[in-house]
Amino acid sequence: MRIVLLGAPGAGKGTQAESLVKKLNLPHISTGDMFRAAIKNGTALGLEAKSYMDAGKLVPDELTVGIIKERISEPDCKEGFILDGFPRNVAQAEALEVMLAEQNAPLDAALNIDVPLEKIVTRLTGRRMCKDCGTIFHIAFNPPKEEGKCDACGGALYQRSDDTVETVTNRLNVYTEQTAPVIGFYAEKGLLRDVNGDQDIDKVMIAMGEALGQQWN
Ligand code: ADP
Ligand code: AMP
Repeated sequence: MRIVLLGAPGAGKGTQAESLVKKLNLPHISTGDMFRAAIKNGTALGLEAKSYMDAGKLVPDELTVGIIKERISEPDCKEGFILDGFPRNVAQAEALEVMLAEQNAPLDAALNIDVPLEKIVTRLTGRRMCKDCGTIFHIAFNPPKEEGKCDACGGALYQRSDDTVETVTNRLNVYTEQTAPVIGFYAEKGLLRDVNGDQDIDKVMIAMGEALGQQWN
């Protein structure tokens, strides 16, 4: 199954992807995670992406489309994948369509996790991530058992440098102007499934299953 996860920054794409990976046994491909790994490893890609990410802007399409093209050609994507954070504008959505048509492997669904924008700032500024395994927490909504420590691997939790109030404002503007139109792109193709993301994490997961025609409760 080939799935795209849509939704504003902080809507819960990464959180839901953690569960979807286990349910569907498919690779989770997050362009944000790929860029953060590149920054951590000090690669040329990371160096180039960092300034855009710190400003809350989109990394240029040439770079982003290139890394996705490479990634979805890898053998573990043969049975499908869960794309998170890509496509983030209509040009990326069109590029993905061309890539998948070349592989004769069309998308099955675009799940749009819908959360009122006024709730997003609290979600993003309270987000904490494990520096070792990337598991996502929230200081109030999904806290770790032990403060500052990952439940999954014991790694230290950190706050992303782009999860500050100032950068979040830019990211939300970018979302509204450039990413929200992707919803209409997939609606026109009959692939869009809206999921209410403004409920408990477990309930969102059940709603995701329903949107995919599966019963997970
Ligand atoms: P995205 O990948 O869409 O940017 P995340 O999955 O990283 O979003 O979630 C953003 C923050 O909101 C995290 O701190 C996460 O723990 C929290 N979160 C995710 N889903 C929910 C939910 N349904 N209710 C409350 N908080 C949530
Ligand atoms: P995320 O982890 O999805 O919140 O992404 C963090 C940052 O990485 C974004 O604010 C962008 O700067 C960059 N990024 C992630 N995915 C994309 C994409 N598909 N296109 C352009 N930039 C991206």
